[in-house]
Amino acid sequence: MDPAPLPRTNAPEPGARVEAGARVEAGARVEACARVEACARPTGPDARAMRVVVVGAGPAGARCAEMLGAGSAVTLIGAEPSLPYNRVALSKLLAGDVDEADLVTHGAARLAALRVAYRPATRIASIDREARILRTDAGDDVSYDRLVLALGSQAFRLNLPGASLPGVSMYRTLDEVRAMLAAAELGGDAVVIGGGLLGLEAAYGLALRGMRVTVVHAVDRLMERQLDMPAAMLLARRLARQGIALVLSGSTEAIEGTGCVTGVRLTDASVIPASLVVMAVGIRPEVTLAREAGLDIGRGVKVDDAMRTSDPAIWAVGECAEHDGQCCGLVAPALAQAEIAARVIGGEDASYVAAADATALKVAGAGVWSAGQTEGLGAETIVYHDPDGEEYRKFVLFDGRLVGAMLYGETRDAPWYQSLIGQGRELTGLRGTLPFGPAFATPEFMEAAE
Ligand SMILES: Cc1cc2nc3c(=O)[nH]c(=O)nc-3n(C[C@H](O)[C@H](O)[C@H](O)COP(=O)(O)OP(=O)(O)OC[C@H]3O[C@@H](n4cnc5c(N)ncnc54)[C@H](O)[C@@H]3O)c2cc1C
Repeated sequence: MDPAPLPRTNAPEPGARVEAGARVEAGARVEACARVEACARPTGPDARAMRVVVVGAGPAGARCAEMLGAGSAVTLIGAEPSLPYNRVALSKLLAGDVDEADLVTHGAARLAALRVAYRPATRIASIDREARILRTDAGDDVSYDRLVLALGSQAFRLNLPGASLPGVSMYRTLDEVRAMLAAAELGGDAVVIGGGLLGLEAAYGLALRGMRVTVVHAVDRLMERQLDMPAAMLLARRLARQGIALVLSGSTEAIEGTGCVTGVRLTDASVIPASLVVMAVGIRPEVTLAREAGLDIGRGVKVDDAMRTSDPAIWAVGECAEHDGQCCGLVAPALAQAEIAARVIGGEDASYVAAADATALKVAGAGVWSAGQTEGLGAETIVYHDPDGEEYRKFVLFDGRLVGAMLYGETRDAPWYQSLIGQGRELTGLRGTLPFGPAFATPEFMEAAE
């Protein structure tokens, strides 16, 4: 066997792995200096396995590394100090439905079994594309043959006076949720700026933790990207029942406080008291590293159908990538892109095809699902609205065919509606019962679909 070459730096060499017994604290943190040791390297013609480095250990990066694992020497590098975790489940952690340990998707033993060397708490500061070397912010060098950027997004911080006071948090990372939980333990008032999915999940979780919560939203209805006014009103009523106050069409002017946050001032000069302010006003694809390395950038890092960037040795996946003019903001497409990149790097011929956009969410315990076009010129709509039963369903038809749907409340039939949108079938004979799902469709209609 070839002797393992001396590392140039203290970075784990390709083929190294996080030791199965790496110390994991209750909080699922990996020691920043997780012990690494060299695995047996392949001998013979494959003596030098292809070194693949994945930067970003969010869901997309971790999935990509996992899929590459066996065939290559994979190093997964993440800026966050924890083991790779399920970011989507942060809201469950905030609401008290799961513990931190439940969030971990790739524990030390699993990474070791996959032969993925994991470097937490390591931020990549620059890419030398010519030499194929990454430089960490600690000044270490990491060489690669193939590089995958899975850098995700940055939560957008409003540029308000007082925005960087202690007690003002974004809602993106495990560390931020830990800080929110610590603040919630003291009780008191919280203001969440942003009434989209993330803002409402933050508000719901903090209210369950006993805080008095106010949501300030700049638009006249909640979750305007997913819901129309009647559905948004059902959601607003539900949140009000849970004690969450709403300020719609509200505009924030400043975060008040000296030393730490004490409130949020609106442009109408009113002040909402707060010992915690959470900003959940949108995300921006993380492109700084790629831009500085000279890769083609639009809103995200531009990629082709194989998720390859303008440099043939570099891929980009997940929220940092821009495919066909679109950046994704949900976990399902991020994972699908990661799988495509891993397959292509592994030698397969694979292409990413964006799925028809459907959003399935749970907000404050209510199901929300939407797909396709939910309003539009020349379209007909069929609506079922039961305010007391908290059910709302809207269907958009064009030329007698379903082109979009929105469900609030019960979303069990969503896959059926999605298939109707995909099939583009004439819905003659079904219109009267469309809102009630497949159980009410005629046998003739269902048979014709088979
Ligand atoms: C609270 C919350 C709830 C959500 N709920 C849902 C939901 O219900 N459904 C849904 O579909 N989606 C949801 N999302 C969105 C989902 O989490 C994202 O779509 C998903 O995390 C994207 O994965 P990613 O790997 O592309 O990016 P990220 O998860 O952002 O991971 C990127 C990682 O790269 C790291 N990184 C960045 N730059 C560097 C660097 N230079 N060096 C090293 N590491 C770097 C970052 O620290 C980060 O850990 C939610 C998000 C949040 C925050």
